[in-house]
Amino acid sequence: MPYTEGLSTANLLCINPSCASRFPLGEVIYTCPRCGALLEISAPVGLAAERMKRVWRERRMSNAPEDRSGVWRYRELLPFEDMSRIVTLAEGNTPVLEAPHAARYAGLDALRFKHQGFNPTGSFKDNGMTAGASQALRLGLKRVACVSTGNTSASMAAYASAAGLTPIIFLPHGNISYGKLAQALEYGALTVQVEANFDQILKLVRELAEKTGIYLLNSVNPFRIEGQKTIMVELLDQLDWRVPDWIVLPGGNLGNISAFGKAFRELLALGFIGRLPRFAVIQAEGSAPFCSYFHRRGAFTPVTKPETLATAIRIGDPVSWPKAIQVIDESNGVVEKVSEQEIADAKAVIGQCGIGCEPASAATLAGMRKLVASGMMRKEESVVAVLTGHVLKDPDYIYRYHTDQLATPSGGKISPSFANRPVSVAADLDSIAWLLEDRRIS
Ligand SMILES: *Cc1c(COP(=O)(O)O)cnc(C)c1O
Repeated sequence: MPYTEGLSTANLLCINPSCASRFPLGEVIYTCPRCGALLEISAPVGLAAERMKRVWRERRMSNAPEDRSGVWRYRELLPFEDMSRIVTLAEGNTPVLEAPHAARYAGLDALRFKHQGFNPTGSFKDNGMTAGASQALRLGLKRVACVSTGNTSASMAAYASAAGLTPIIFLPHGNISYGKLAQALEYGALTVQVEANFDQILKLVRELAEKTGIYLLNSVNPFRIEGQKTIMVELLDQLDWRVPDWIVLPGGNLGNISAFGKAFRELLALGFIGRLPRFAVIQAEGSAPFCSYFHRRGAFTPVTKPETLATAIRIGDPVSWPKAIQVIDESNGVVEKVSEQEIADAKAVIGQCGIGCEPASAATLAGMRKLVASGMMRKEESVVAVLTGHVLKDPDYIYRYHTDQLATPSGGKISPSFANRPVSVAADLDSIAWLLEDRRIS
C-alpha cells in the first residue's frame, strides 16, 4: 500500500530559496542532495481552523492512543495519515504551570512554564522522536541511530524499542551523562563508544547509514522537527488560542526554536491565530554561537570548545541555525546568553516553585531576568517559558549546588544563592526538636 496516499501536498522541501528542490517523503535523505541545505516538510494547506480547534479539543476525551498523544492529536498538521502505523508512548500532554515565585525573580507580573519534562522519557525530545521513529517504520527500515550522550539517545532508545526497531547510539569518547545514558541502556539501545569527537562520529555514522540502511534520528531529521511543532500547538490549545507576547526557550542545536517557529508560521497562514509571539532563545555563555551571530551577523562562527554544565545545550556548531535565525527575525525575537551562576540560581528558584527542571531548561528564567532588567521584556507582558527537561535528569548537579560544591567547567566558583543543605542530627527527640526550633519536648 503506498504510504503517500492522500499526502499529495506534503513533501521534503530544501530551505535554500535559490535551490528550493522538492523530494518525496519516502526518500531517505536528511539534507538537500542538490545543495546540502536543511530540509523541511512543506506546510499543509486548507484546514478549517475553527472546526479543527473543536476536533482537537474533543480528542482529549477519547481513549484512542493517537488521540491521547499530545503529538498525534494534532495529526492534521503532520505528514502522516495512517495512524495504525505510528509509535506513541502518550507523549506530550505536558502542563502549563503558573509560577508566581519565578515571575517575581524574573521581574515579571506573571509567568507560565510549559513543562516538557513531563514527557515519557523526561524531555521534549519525545515529541519529535514519536514522529521520527514513525517515519522509520513507514520507510520499513529496521535500525535507527543517533550520535548523542543526552536526551536524544534516551528518547530514541525508548521509541525505537517500543516500535520493535533496533536503536543504536554512538557516544563521543569521554563525554557521558549518566542519568541519560542509564535510560538508553535500560530501554535496550546498542550503545557504542567511539574514540572521536561528536562531528567525527557523525560523519562516520552518516556514511554507515547510507551504506547499510540505518535510519538517522539526529536533530536535522525533518520529521523530528514536525513532531516538536506540536508543543506549540498544544500550548495554544491550552491557552484557548490566545498568543502570548513572548515564548522563551533554551537553544542548543536550535531544532526546537526551528520547530516552534514553523508551528506558528503554519498556524498563522491557516488562520488559527492572528499574530506571532516574540521568541527569546537563551544560550549558555560558554556555548553561545547563535547569540554571537544574532548580535554581529556576518558569517556564522561555531564555538570550537563549547562548555557549560547545562550539557543539553553544550553545542558549538548548531546545525539548525539557518532555520532558527529566520524564526527570530520574522518574530522580532531576541537571543540572549547567561552565565553558569545565573543558570544555577535560576534553576534553584524553579525548584522552589515546586516545579524543577534540568539545568538547560533553567537558562530560560535566567535569560528572562536579564531581558526584563534591560527593558527588552516588559513586566506586564504575557510570557510562556518552555522547560525542556525533567529535574531528575541531572541529580548530581543539584546535590553539588545545594552543598556548595558546584564549579564551572573551567573550575570557577559557583556560589549557591539558594543553597538548601541537608543537616545531620543526633538520634534523640530533643536534638531534633531543637533543630526544628520547637520547645524542649521531654
Ligand atoms: C535538546 C535539549 C535542548 C536543546 O534543544 P535544541 O533543539 O537542540 O536547541 C535544551 N534542553 C534540553 C533538556 C534538551 O534535551
